[in-house]
Amino acid sequence: MVLRNGHNRSLQSAVKNSAILHKECSIMENCLFCKIAAGIIPSTRVYEDELCVAFRDIAPQAPTHILVIPREHISGMSGINEENAALAGHCLAVAAKVAAAEGLENGYRIVSNCGDDAGQTVHHLHFHILGGKKLSLEMA
Ligand code: 5GP
Ligand code: ZN
Repeated sequence: MVLRNGHNRSLQSAVKNSAILHKECSIMENCLFCKIAAGIIPSTRVYEDELCVAFRDIAPQAPTHILVIPREHISGMSGINEENAALAGHCLAVAAKVAAAEGLENGYRIVSNCGDDAGQTVHHLHFHILGGKKLSLEMA
């Protein structure tokens, strides 16, 4: 596919920005959620601060389906350690705040799939917020 000049320039600029962010903020070049956190790939954001971003899932599995991610790349639950546990905890505190802001006073579920058996498809730590209906009780 041949990109027109305008597109090419914006692509080059995005790649350059990605490289700068990668250097300064430990952004992984081939990570979808690093790119969403950096704004290189668009998303519908509902919350952001200096440490994390919350945005609507592209394929919602419940009336409210939001993902909370740290800006820093962590591979998933198995990548949480003593050094970054506070950041993961901050994401959970934000998840509770976002759930309240979304009006999920009747309840909600927080899920973080880890590894193949759990069906993790994006290897950047994320917490699903699921709510807005009675959720299946089959799992957890
Ligand atoms: P996992 O399967 O790793 O637990 O969750 C990944 C989630 O990311 C899925 O629910 C999937 O729908 C969502 N997702 C994948 N690609 C995109 C995207 O480009 N934008 C948004 N907003 N969500 C995405
Ligand atoms: Zn990442």
